[in-house]
Amino acid sequence: MGKRIYNFNAGPAALPLPVLEEIRDNFLDYKGSGMSIIEASHRSKWFDDVINDAVDRTKRLLGLGDNFDVLFIQGGASLQFCMIPMNLTIEDKPVDYINTGTWSTKAIKEAQIQGKDVRVLASSEDKDFYYIPKDFQVNEDASYLHFTSNNTIKGTQWAKFPESGDVPLICDMSSDFMSRPFDANPFGMIYAGAQKNIGPSGSAMVLLRKDMLDRVPDNIPTMLKYSTFAEKNSMFNTPSCFVIYTTQLVLKWLEETIGGLKEMERMNKEKAKVLYDFIDRSDFYRGTAANDSRSLMNVTFRLPDEDLEKRFVDEALKEGMGGLKGHRSLGGCRASIYNATGMEAIKALVEFMAEFEKREG
Ligand SMILES: *Cc1c(COP(=O)(O)O)cnc(C)c1O
Repeated sequence: MGKRIYNFNAGPAALPLPVLEEIRDNFLDYKGSGMSIIEASHRSKWFDDVINDAVDRTKRLLGLGDNFDVLFIQGGASLQFCMIPMNLTIEDKPVDYINTGTWSTKAIKEAQIQGKDVRVLASSEDKDFYYIPKDFQVNEDASYLHFTSNNTIKGTQWAKFPESGDVPLICDMSSDFMSRPFDANPFGMIYAGAQKNIGPSGSAMVLLRKDMLDRVPDNIPTMLKYSTFAEKNSMFNTPSCFVIYTTQLVLKWLEETIGGLKEMERMNKEKAKVLYDFIDRSDFYRGTAANDSRSLMNVTFRLPDEDLEKRFVDEALKEGMGGLKGHRSLGGCRASIYNATGMEAIKALVEFMAEFEKREG
């Protein structure tokens, strides 16, 4: 086998090695079926067990009650930007959003396209989204309040979620889903594109509080209704079987190997601390997110100039560390350190950063 890199990609991103190995080992003959899981019918017992186990593990890991449906919906997180206002707006009630970056901006745009009464409650656009807004007033007459828990591109994250009273929170958790425990009760809906922390790309996991289904209008297309997915256990049509299978194995890894989300959070905090502490001690590297808004998942930083940044990224790859280039909209560097990127990857990166600084600083 060729050497695997330390993978700092933002998404699709690193998956746990034991999960990849399990997929490989079972690929040609899944549990004695004589076929791979992606060749089996989604109506078969084999696949039924996979999706049900994925749902059960999600509920256990997050401590969700039976008042939540766990759904898999094709189209990634971006389709959710459109489905949320389409399904979950209460007639004549505005929809509220907090704008903390590129992904929130896209979510807002999809609600505006549909002619919803969109209010942007708070925004950090004034300072190029480098912080998480703090002082804002929540409206009690909103259909919902939407926010993005982790801003993958700018490297900011909500340490504590906004409080919205009786208004259900809706959260895009694409890039920090399953990285820490949280209380799901204030949420009407939570969604995450699978490819950051729980699986391959192309689908989103959606946690929907069941009472939200009452809002789904009749006159929207079948495949765009949450009720379609809820009524058919995400199998109204052929689901993305491979995404769901991989997600199931990642959730099993989280439960059985890591030991749950509390432990995962402890590890994630430790990893991020090593990297931020190093950046803070250095005069050569400069973190780009406000200190109190820093993400534990995406660490964004700059070097003294763009030429050095380019060489840093290229030379890091030669040393076996991939994916360190910042998002094309922002430049700079970014180390995405999701659940599957272990402490040994962080240590290797910090060692390389120190060596590069010594040579070039
Ligand atoms: C990556 C990402 C998305 C987009 O996900 P797709 O599955 O590509 O649509 C949306 N929101 C956040 C926070 C992301 O990190």
